[in-house]
Parts: sequence; C-alpha cells; structure tokens
Amino acid sequence: MREDFARALTRAAGGIELTREDIITLLQALPGEEETKLFELADRVRQENFGDEVHLRGIIEFSNYCRNDCHYCGLRRSNKEIQRYRIPLEEIVDTAKYAAELGYGTIVLQAGEDPYYSGEELAEMIRKVKESGNFAVTVCVGERSRKDYELMKEAGADRYLLKHETADPALFAKLRPGTSLAERIKRLQWLREIGFQVGSGNMVGLPGQTVETLADDILLLKELDVEMAGIGPFIPHDQTPLRDCSKGDLKQTLKTLAVARLVLPQTHLPATTAIGTLHPEGRKMALACGANVIMPNLSPAGYRQMYQIYPEKAGSKENADESHEKITSLVKEVGRHISKGRGDSPKEQFKNRPAR
Ligand code: SAM
Ligand code: SF4
Repeated sequence: MREDFARALTRAAGGIELTREDIITLLQALPGEEETKLFELADRVRQENFGDEVHLRGIIEFSNYCRNDCHYCGLRRSNKEIQRYRIPLEEIVDTAKYAAELGYGTIVLQAGEDPYYSGEELAEMIRKVKESGNFAVTVCVGERSRKDYELMKEAGADRYLLKHETADPALFAKLRPGTSLAERIKRLQWLREIGFQVGSGNMVGLPGQTVETLADDILLLKELDVEMAGIGPFIPHDQTPLRDCSKGDLKQTLKTLAVARLVLPQTHLPATTAIGTLHPEGRKMALACGANVIMPNLSPAGYRQMYQIYPEKAGSKENADESHEKITSLVKEVGRHISKGRGDSPKEQFKNRPAR
C-alpha cells in the first residue's frame, strides 16, 4: 500500500477530517489491497452508523415531461423519440396504497421538470399520497420556485432530492444548458431553510470530469451537510448528445461511494438503480461499500419503458411486485435486513418523527 494512501486511510479510520488531498488519494485506490481496505473501512463505518438495516424508498415516476435539455438524460426536451406521459393522480394514489401494503416507509415522487404541475397541484399530490399510508414523502421534481417548495413542505413532504450532478460549474453549465450550479445550490439552501431533509448527489464518469471534480463533489455534499446523497454512474443514452461517451466506471463509482461514506458517516447513501444497471451485481457491491438504502421502482408497469433516463434501466421490464421481490431477496442475500421504520436522518433535528 502506498504511504500517502495508508496515511489518508488511517486518518479516516480515526475520524480525522479528510483534506481534499486525502480524498483525491483515496479516490485513486489501486486494485488489490488499497481497494479492499477502502471498501472494508466504508462498510465498517456504515455498520457503526446504520447497523445492518437497509431502507427502501419506493419511487413513483409520475411524469416524463421535461422542460430542460440536459445533455446526459433521455427525458431531455429535444428527445422526440420517447412517448411522454403523466400518471393520473388516482393511479399515483393507488400505487402509494399498494406501497403501504408492502410496508414501505418512504415514497419518492419523481418526475422531469414538468411545468404542467403548479405548486398547488404538487402539494395536492403530496397530501393525497401522505393520506394513503404512514410514509415519509421525498419529492424529486427539479428546480422550482421557493414558494412551490414551501407549498410542498406545508402539504407534508418530508424530504427533497435535488442532485447537484457535478461540482464543476463549467461542466454543469455545459451539460445543463440554461441552468447553473449556483442556482442549483441556492435551491438546496432554500430547501434546508424550509426544513426538508435534503438529498443531493452526483454522477460518476461524466465526460470532462476528473478525480479532482469527484473530490469536490464529496466536499460539496459535506458543505451542504446533506441527509442523503445519490452517487451513481453516468450511463450514455442514444438519443442524447453524449451518446458516444463511455459509461461511468464501476470501480470508480464504488470508490466514490466508499469515500463519501467516510466523509459523510451519517448520510443515507443509496445503492443506485444506475449502478444496478451498469452491472447485475452493482447494487450488492454498493451495499458492501457504504450504501444503506435502495430505491425500488414502484411505477405502474405500463409507464416504465417511457422513463428511460438511460437505456436498459434496471427494473424497467418488471412490475412493482417483481421489483419489490427482487430487492428484498437481494437484501437478504447480502445478509442485511429491511428496515421497518421511515428511515429519517439520524441527525438530532430529524429525530422523534411519528413512529410507523
Ligand atoms: N428532473 C429532476 C432532476 O433533474 O433533478 C429529477 C429527475 S432526473 C431523471 C433524476 C436523476 O437522473 C438526475 O438527478 C440525474 O443524476 C439522473 N440521470 C439523468 N440522466 C442520467 C444518465 N444518463 N446516467 C445516469 N444518471 C442520470
Ligand atoms: Fe429533465 Fe432531470 Fe432529465 Fe435534466 S436530468 S433532462 S431536468 S429529467
């Protein structure tokens, strides 16, 4: 093991704050002993902070319309090849009721940035979903006005997921035309002020990204003090300008996840659908490198093929039952168990939430 790597790992193991240099060093763990030790430590830190519980967050992808044109995403507005849909409210509520029967503690309402929905309509959707079961609700609908976020919170939303995508402002502006990293971060701060449990995160393997960018991603997540961080590989989509780029590297994604676990010991980290798409064992590997959350797809089967943010998205050929079954057996296979709680952040200010 290289000396500087061993030093950074010892600092992490001793709970000493890692410098940017340490993070860069750890992100470059070499195959063999360095990777093994990094993954073992991340797994231990996950165990110490969250035990062996895995939290399930059931996602309902309720609209694939999007006003944005992100270069990496299949839902971008310039993609004329996909059929667009919006799931009627009654069907969303029925799905939520079904999730309640399956014992889900969190529902994630996700969509493209769809201006069809006013803040009031989103609030109504949240209220109806909250009435359908004893859930925490996470909303993931992109950049909206502060007023809209306030309406969602008043309607009972508990968490908001807005990935910063990349901490490199120039890369962000290039890949997300018409938007800026500064505006994204401003919204993450609003969400915090409004009282949400805040989730963010980034993709690994975006063209133009460096290991320094990944270190800055992790440092930004730390600065934002997020309660959840989704870190998954970039997967190219044929109907986007990034169609010919390479996909994110599996090992680099696992290393980024592991280092994030060391820097953010109390943050929920999902084994993402994207890593499960990249490799059939990807989610299991992620669970062994610091992850403690999985987000099974609960969208009604008929809509799934149309929510292709990237191709062959894991679960897109299943129904909700099959996705649930698959994830529960995966959790058992790795010797962990599914949490019966809502899986709120362990931070003091989010404790004493109503029991389920
Ligand atoms: N529209 C909202 C937004 O962008 O925040 C929420 C939905 S968006 C489809 C959810 C996430 O999908 C994004 O945060 C992004 O990280 C991820 N995503 C989009 N295209 C991707 C790709 N090609 N590979 C991996 N992840 C992708
Ligand atoms: Fe729209 Fe989100 Fe896809 Fe960007 S990542 S095109 S905002 S759905």
